[in-house]
Amino acid sequence: MPKFKLEYIWLDGYTPTAGLRSKTQIKSFDEFPTLEQLPNWGFDGSSTQQAEGRSSDCVLKPVAVYPDSTRLNGVLVMCEVMMPDGVTPHPTNTRATILDDPDTWFGFEQEYFLYQNGVPLGFPKDGFPAPQGPYYCGVGYKNVGDIARQIVEEHLDLCLEAGINHEGINAEVAKGQWEFQIFGKGSKTCADQIWVARYLLLRVCESYGVDVEWHCKPLGMHADWNGSGMHCNFSTKFMREVGGKEYFEKLMAQFEKNCLEHIAVYGPDNHMRLTGLHETQSIDKFSYGIADRGASVRVPHSFANNGYKGYLEDRRPNSQGDPYAIAGRVLKTISEVEI
Ligand code: ADP
Ligand code: MN
Ligand code: MN
Ligand code: MN
Repeated sequence: MPKFKLEYIWLDGYTPTAGLRSKTQIKSFDEFPTLEQLPNWGFDGSSTQQAEGRSSDCVLKPVAVYPDSTRLNGVLVMCEVMMPDGVTPHPTNTRATILDDPDTWFGFEQEYFLYQNGVPLGFPKDGFPAPQGPYYCGVGYKNVGDIARQIVEEHLDLCLEAGINHEGINAEVAKGQWEFQIFGKGSKTCADQIWVARYLLLRVCESYGVDVEWHCKPLGMHADWNGSGMHCNFSTKFMREVGGKEYFEKLMAQFEKNCLEHIAVYGPDNHMRLTGLHETQSIDKFSYGIADRGASVRVPHSFANNGYKGYLEDRRPNSQGDPYAIAGRVLKTISEVEI
């Protein structure tokens, strides 16, 4: 029986943003293990801000499994953190309690900066490179440098080999800034993949001596450099198949009513990013508009042209947001609107 390297991955208790942690356990299986075959495991919660030292055990409960092509018989095991009883979700476990619906499709656009020596990859040691303009979807050494594309391509291949549903990648507006898009059916399926893709990106970057900066405005709120978002594209079965202007307006009214509740889970320091500049709406305003990248919710042309049917893009979530909490909140607001 081959020995598999099971990499259990979980979210720690750091605030305002959970960090990723992982450790390996070796187990024998006849073939690549299924989720049901993977046992719960434990870790020292006092080292991850999830427990006191005197009673430090937390439980890892596997919730999703992916092949890890970097290792012989490698397995990536996404986990929820549970209390010592193994059944009560730990307070830091944002996945356990969110709404889910396999017929609601999510597409997250994860933006991030690659960083080296405390500055975005490709920035000079002191000062700034040429202003943004040529970097978005850019090509050529002076626009994207030398190792960024290598990292991004390696990450893409790893994710595809893991079965993560990448839909695309692109260089973003600021120098050293990139994006990947992941599509999934259901809040948990999609958000699990975002977390594992984040994990794989961090791991790929290790060998390049590069860090990933997930902060939504790493160059500060006054610099003329774009921040990082994680736009949340979503569509329920009803939106795709029935839709209509009346339902759309009711849905948007509910989004407006819940504006603060959404912002609360859309990532830390979002006031630095949602300023009304750099393709954003202000944090305290809610708006929507057809093809409007300065709105909170962008309505794709295809949606309006197709009788208000299809998907919408909530542009407010930021790069450091927790996709479980974001998708869960979107579903909650949707659930409050009668169809
Ligand atoms: P842009 O940068 O113009 O906002 P992207 O191509 O980066 O657009 O992202 C669009 C996202 O929309 C993709 O992640 C895709 O998965 C998602 N998407 C497309 N169709 C749907 C749908 N019907 N429901 C939910 N998400 C969708
Ligand atoms: Mn995009
Ligand atoms: Mn983008
Ligand atoms: Mn977008």
